[in-house]
This record gives sequence, structure tokens and C-alpha cells, in this order.
Amino acid sequence: MSESALPDGVERRQIEGGRRLATRGEPVYGEPTADGWRAWDPERSKLGGMLELGVETGLTGGETVLYLGAASGTTVSHVADFAGPTYAVEFAPRPARDLLDAAAPRDRLFPLLKDARKPETYAHVVEADVDAIVQDVATRGQAEVAVRNAQFLADDGRLLLAVKARSEDVTADPETVFEGALGRLREAYEILETRRLDRFHEDHLGVVATPK
Ligand code: SAM
Repeated sequence: MSESALPDGVERRQIEGGRRLATRGEPVYGEPTADGWRAWDPERSKLGGMLELGVETGLTGGETVLYLGAASGTTVSHVADFAGPTYAVEFAPRPARDLLDAAAPRDRLFPLLKDARKPETYAHVVEADVDAIVQDVATRGQAEVAVRNAQFLADDGRLLLAVKARSEDVTADPETVFEGALGRLREAYEILETRRLDRFHEDHLGVVATPK
């Protein structure tokens, strides 16, 4: 993989016999650790998979992030380890409880129990012009969620999106689903890179985009 694609604060560290992607912070999901570094498992994280595959995310470390679909905090906890203020939107109360635990030792991680389809409900909390939106909602209408949240992104910001084909249509050919999602995204974004994430996440497409 391309080392240059890694943001500051994300390194390859020797952990449990392998060189693994890692961030510094309190463990969250039983991941192995060494010397304060916690392994970032690309099989449990779409963004981790994108970094592992050398996708140019544009993340440099220290940026403001809006994370949509935070679940119990697996990926967003790694993000908050290297980023600046990280707003984590999750609408299901049960994973959100675990997300609160992940946020407790992280003073830059702000959980929001909100629906990502309704950005107006958190627009008063999230600062304007975030540097990156990371999205992994895995529900129908994934491109629509990204378009609705484009308002938060700085002009030169990055959308880092994982599209799960089966969440849109279980029977359709994934490539057809991805083309449809990219078509909707292009109404608000310029697509910079796409990458199939199948090595780690079956029938998922990673997308890097910037506002039009
Ligand atoms: N990104 C997480 C990670 O890597 O740790 C995993 C996310 S999981 C695949 C998808 C999550 O998105 C679920 O927890 C689900 O409740 C949440 N979600 C789906 N639709 C949402 C919406 N409209 N608003 C907020 N959260 C949503």
C-alpha cells in the first residue's frame, strides 16, 4: 500500500506478529494493542479498508470530521485518535450507548444521536466547513444522505463514502447499484476516486469526492 496515503497519527506498527494499521488511543472493540497503539482492523472498518488499499483519502491528520453512521464507534474512534473535532452521527440508540463509551476518553469525539437524513437537526452543533465527511450508513439512499450533508463540507473538503450495494437492492448487480449512486452523487460532488473494497468488504464501493 502507499504509505503516503496515511494521515499523521496513523502508522503501520508491529502488533501481535504483524505490521498493522494503527492509531494511538484507548482500545474500543477488543482490538490488539502495543505500546499505546491500537490495531485498526480493515475488515471491520470501510475507512480502514480504504487506507489499507492505498486510496488517496486526502486525510492528513488534525482535520474536522463529520462521521455519518458511527454505530458503536469502531471506526470513528480511530478517526478521533488522529483527527481534530469529530462529530459522530448515529440514529440507533443501542450502538449509540457504546459510542458514548468510546467517546468518554476522547475529548475530540462528539456523539450525536441524530438521523443523517435530517441534517437540519444537527446543523446548529456541527461547525461549518468541515474538512471531511466520512459516511458508512449502509441503508437505502446512501448517495442521498451524502448529498444532503454536502452543505457541511468545506469547498476543498473530502467526502469518504462507503456504498454497500445490498443496502440499496439485494438482487441488483452491484456495479449497476454503484453507477446509480455515483449518478446521484455527481449532482453535488465531483468524484475523485472509486475503489472496490471487496478484499475486506464484499460488494462495497469506496468513493472519494469533493463538493462541486
Ligand atoms: N461506520 C461504522 C464503523 O465502521 O464502525 C459501522 C456502521 S454500520 C455499517 C451502519 C450504521 O449506520 C448503523 O449503526 C446504523 O444504525 C447507522 N445508520 C443507518 N442509517 C442512519 C441514519 N439515517 N442516520 C444515522 N445513522 C444511521
